[in-house]
Amino acid sequence: MHEHTFHEHPRKKERREDHLFEIKRKALVCTLLTLPVVLLSDTFQKILGVSIPEFYGSRLITVLLSSIVFFYGGVFFLKGSFQELKVARPGMMSLVSLAISIGFLYSSYAYASGGVDFFWELSTLIVVMLWGHFIEMKSVLGASKAIEELAKLLPKKANLIIKGSEVLEVDVSQLKVGDVVLIKPGEKVPADGVVLEGTAHMNESLLTGESKPVPKKEGDKVIGGSLNMEGVLKVRVEKTGETSYLSQVMKIVKEAQESKTKLQDLADKVAFYLTIIALLVGSITFSLWLYLAGDPQFAVERAVTVIVIACPHALGLAIPLVVAISTSYSSSRGILVRDRLSLELLRNIDVIVFDKTGTLTEGKFGLSDIRTKDIQENDLLRLVASLERSSEHVIAKALVEEALSRGLEVMKLEDFKSYSGKGVWGRVRGSEVAVGTEAFVKELGILSDEGLLKEGKKLSSQGKTVVLVGVDGKLKGILALSDRIRKESYDAVKSIKSMGKKVMMITGDADEVARWVSEELGIDEYFARVLPHQKVEKIKSLQGRGLKVAMVGDGINDAPALMQADVGIAIGSGTDVAIESAGIILVKSNPDDVLKAIKLSKVAYKKMIQNLFWATGYNLVAIPLAAGVLYRWGVLIPPPVAAILMSLSTVLVAINALLMRRSLE
Ligand code: ADP
Ligand code: MG
Repeated sequence: MHEHTFHEHPRKKERREDHLFEIKRKALVCTLLTLPVVLLSDTFQKILGVSIPEFYGSRLITVLLSSIVFFYGGVFFLKGSFQELKVARPGMMSLVSLAISIGFLYSSYAYASGGVDFFWELSTLIVVMLWGHFIEMKSVLGASKAIEELAKLLPKKANLIIKGSEVLEVDVSQLKVGDVVLIKPGEKVPADGVVLEGTAHMNESLLTGESKPVPKKEGDKVIGGSLNMEGVLKVRVEKTGETSYLSQVMKIVKEAQESKTKLQDLADKVAFYLTIIALLVGSITFSLWLYLAGDPQFAVERAVTVIVIACPHALGLAIPLVVAISTSYSSSRGILVRDRLSLELLRNIDVIVFDKTGTLTEGKFGLSDIRTKDIQENDLLRLVASLERSSEHVIAKALVEEALSRGLEVMKLEDFKSYSGKGVWGRVRGSEVAVGTEAFVKELGILSDEGLLKEGKKLSSQGKTVVLVGVDGKLKGILALSDRIRKESYDAVKSIKSMGKKVMMITGDADEVARWVSEELGIDEYFARVLPHQKVEKIKSLQGRGLKVAMVGDGINDAPALMQADVGIAIGSGTDVAIESAGIILVKSNPDDVLKAIKLSKVAYKKMIQNLFWATGYNLVAIPLAAGVLYRWGVLIPPPVAAILMSLSTVLVAINALLMRRSLE
């Protein structure tokens, strides 16, 4: 039943296209061969009210053409059934093979012994099945196209700069890390890299879903596959091949499409039972009709119809098609689903916990106020910057930047320690300096200063992040940094709340700042002054309240909390998407994408349930009809009509899945 694969491998895809061509040829040839068979059949002549006089050998023609259709066209299903039986998973191919083999053997026997055959039904059945299979394969190919298009984003050629000035056109595959390339307007970036020179605006919409042009300057990262809209850039290649953003995204999508979900398991189980039901009802139908009507031809035809109609064909596609379409759709919009189960869970989550800094806020700090005691502002800042130069924290970067812009020279560090979620400590020119939270400086036994603390509280309650600076055991100053709330956060919080989910915030920052941001955004509950390892405990305690929790935070510092949460969502990873701690990765740092992910979860689930219905539900009516329950009232389904119904359900499932894109726009 799983003869379809949706993920991309060039050779596999080629094989699939060959396959598609082969089945089309078979379908066409069989259609032509079946036409005369149908024309010569009694049933058809009766329907049209014409009669083609039986000529010498006309029955033989029917037998011969039908045999060719069976051996040339039907063999496609026979081959498939061998594959199914090899892995001990009989399914649609096996059932179809069984049905057409019974039909063929019985009709041949009837012909030889002068009985009534049903060759024309058999040939038509095979033709319809072939076309049905063709249509389905086409839609599967279409579904995986988005990810193919992702692969096509990389250009073939790159302008390599050699000897500092000469430009040489080379194949992208020849680029190595450290190479410098020139990117002119209208050209695509050949590999992930860093801008060395120039400014430009990039179109990254097909990679990350960012619809606005992204400005780039020296030091910024560019993604391979993005389009240079204007400006000229010199870029140093940082990642190529497997490690590049595009390859990583394709790998994630592939893994997600392969990973099983609960609904897939359900579909497989149902398919298995349907196969058994088909065989069972088929045998019962045969025995009953043979007993009731005493007509073996009629009994065999009914049994074949039942088996054909009950084929769990559409079931094999119901879930994978939705998975293929939803994952490739979202990946090109910067929502990477690493784990299908996370996406499935997301729609039922009760609480979304956001990390504050860099998630709800921009995470771009700027120094707004300095208060000092017994020290010059610039002297304090110089000490602080000398220390913070060794820290990766966004606060640290902002402080260093401020010092540099004031033309202050940083000093040599003699000792340095970083305390995650608290601050930093070090020795500069013989002085011990500590920068961090109030709790942190207290912990270090630094002598407090009421005046400064009071100032700090005041600035905090304005939403500013305040860090304290201790020098040689005394509190010497405070630095207030302002961070802006992202404008998307307002709507995201409101929309998530309107879905009936609670929104919470967790932060290592001071209580006053947390309260200010919470009130501003309308957040239900917040947790302040939480150290990184305590974030896990907070998530656990929420889960202890019986809540299903999704955590949104950065993939590194918040990794344990992301893993503890029922659904971990890593935000703002940019080109670095190799994050193992989260089930869902958002490339852009946009809380709005959390909302999109929830919507995706809902739509995909709805589509899967609908597909399960389309794939199985019709059987409730169709199987009894096929068995001939309403024969007395003149309702009978001939085998080809059964095949049409069965194929129709497959086509419906495919169309329903393809329409998903529309519900997501
Ligand atoms: P969040 O939970 O908001 O992402 P962190 O856990 O990274 O914040 O940090 C919590 C607090 O610890 C910061 O608000 C800051 O006061 C302090 N801190 C952490 N690292 C540093 C640093 N390098 N320099 C100064 N203060 C720091
Ligand atoms: Mg953080």
